[in-house]
Amino acid sequence: MKYKLLKQYFGYEQFREGQETLIDSILSHRDTFGIMPTGAGKSLCYQIPALMLEGITLVISPLISLMKDQVTSLNQAGVHAAYLNSSLSYAQYLKALSNARDGRYKIIYVAPERLVTEEFLTFAMNTQISMISVDEAHCVSQWGQDFRPSYLKITEFIDRLPQRPVVSAFTATATAAVREDIVAILRLENPTIVSTGFDRPNLYFGVEQPRDRYTALLKNLEDFPGQSGIIYCLTRKSVEEVCLRLEQDGYPVTRYHAGLSDRERQQNQEDFIYDVKPVMVATNAFGMGIDKSNVRFVIHYNMPKNLESYYQEAGRAGRDGEPARCILLYGGQDVITNQLFIENNRDNEELTEDELELVLERDRERLRRMTFYCFTNDCLRTYMLNYFGEYPDSYCGNCSNCLTKFDTLDITPMADAIIGCVRACHERYGITVILDTVHGSKSAKIRQYHMEDNPYYNSLPDISIPRLRQIINHLILTGYLELTNSKYAVLRLTQTSELVSNGTEILSMKLAEEYVPEKKAKKSKAKTVPANVDPALFEELRTLRMTLAKENKVAPYLIFSDKTLYQMCALKPLNKEEMLNVSGVGEVKYDRYGEVFVTAIKAYQ
Ligand code: ADP
Ligand code: MG
Repeated sequence: MKYKLLKQYFGYEQFREGQETLIDSILSHRDTFGIMPTGAGKSLCYQIPALMLEGITLVISPLISLMKDQVTSLNQAGVHAAYLNSSLSYAQYLKALSNARDGRYKIIYVAPERLVTEEFLTFAMNTQISMISVDEAHCVSQWGQDFRPSYLKITEFIDRLPQRPVVSAFTATATAAVREDIVAILRLENPTIVSTGFDRPNLYFGVEQPRDRYTALLKNLEDFPGQSGIIYCLTRKSVEEVCLRLEQDGYPVTRYHAGLSDRERQQNQEDFIYDVKPVMVATNAFGMGIDKSNVRFVIHYNMPKNLESYYQEAGRAGRDGEPARCILLYGGQDVITNQLFIENNRDNEELTEDELELVLERDRERLRRMTFYCFTNDCLRTYMLNYFGEYPDSYCGNCSNCLTKFDTLDITPMADAIIGCVRACHERYGITVILDTVHGSKSAKIRQYHMEDNPYYNSLPDISIPRLRQIINHLILTGYLELTNSKYAVLRLTQTSELVSNGTEILSMKLAEEYVPEKKAKKSKAKTVPANVDPALFEELRTLRMTLAKENKVAPYLIFSDKTLYQMCALKPLNKEEMLNVSGVGEVKYDRYGEVFVTAIKAYQ
């Protein structure tokens, strides 16, 4: 039965990792908790049981845009679903409730703050509710990224029901603390827990340290003509600048940040979702609730403040499982901007001075780990997964470091000079001052600090500042130096520093053959279309999809995903039967759109 539904409504032949276990658990009426990365296919895990269970399933979801997207997607697949949230007028709301009472929907998405309103309670008490499914379940935890106090109402609501439905919860981001919170706060009873790990193998990760970011951005964009992607900037100002320049250079861009009016944000977001403006330039205010499956690249124009944010934002690429590219353009100024954000962050007014200091320290540490991501020469994916507590092989073959050829360089003399310099100035200064000193800078700061008198002043004049910075970062990463966690991070010696100075230890480091940072990520890039796909046919089908999207007023990716179009290009189905073999084409979708695509493919041959 579940396979039949998978094929009929969603057009897929097989379950992905974890899905079947989660579905079976729900169907056996056990509470169920799924932790799967973005794009893994969590929605299906409650949608399929919802279709099989007798009564109604309520899906709690934090954001209007998320609900709307999911409901449209279900309706496109032929499933009757609706949402109840503040975007409906009161009359629409009553109408939807009355339809629900008449049993017109199997799945209802509802905003958490609605749950305990009188009207909704009356409805819920008189309806058979078989399952409550909590999407984005990390929102119940204060330790999570996006805590929503209204999520705490969920258990209150469940307690009021005449019969406790089975409860399922899903999230992509849950550290151990957040996991425990979810189970405890939602009071999951002896739940089946499935966790499929954080890795997103279809994403290519790259770091570039370009001299000119805008040029580096354009170079990346060249590989994605007409495709959809997101460019994240750290500040509103740079969103404005980058968006304007891209517009002048003829790219179909729009923008999003907290400084725009609600209306404009809404409009721009829609332009993006509907591929009217497939490239979005935004601050981190953008993205929560964006389920667009055909985002082919996410470029960070600046380094974000921590890896949690980075992985979440980059993870918006390639939700359809097809190759997508995530590039971070690093510049030294990013560290300073983030430090300012951290030091000035007074979001939570309830914290005491001590608590605030702890939060600051945590944030500084997170920023540091983020910065090291930009400097490590080891596998980027492994670096991130380690951060999230997973320990895979240390070579992924799909990141800029795995694909760069490195030379091993003896850095003992440089390390000796740097460590000596730190010791001679009594561990009083940060990275920049030390760098400038050994490099022999004549800046005002160096003079002011009397660093010209340091015995190591100008001891490494021939080694470029970027390379020196790499070496210092390497020394920190490997524990030969330490950076304090204070507001102005200062370099300190460690127990092993001495081993370098007294010549017991020889240090070597992997360095890209010729340190031309712009070239770093270029050697192998994620292909924009798979090798077995004829780009011209793909273009045709994409245009057709756009036309249909406009006619039907739905987002193109809700008609067919990029992945489905790729398969059509590869299989070239010429009749209904062949078309139904394409992953992502179910009965209902075929009836709606199948024939036009068959016709287009025939015409192309
Ligand atoms: P998330 O886990 O982030 O909530 P979604 O539920 O939005 O992920 O699913 C991401 C994409 O994967 C969707 O386009 C969905 O249709 C697709 N998908 C889900 N399950 C399968 C499957 N078994 N086979 C193929 N594609 C699937
Ligand atoms: Mg989801």
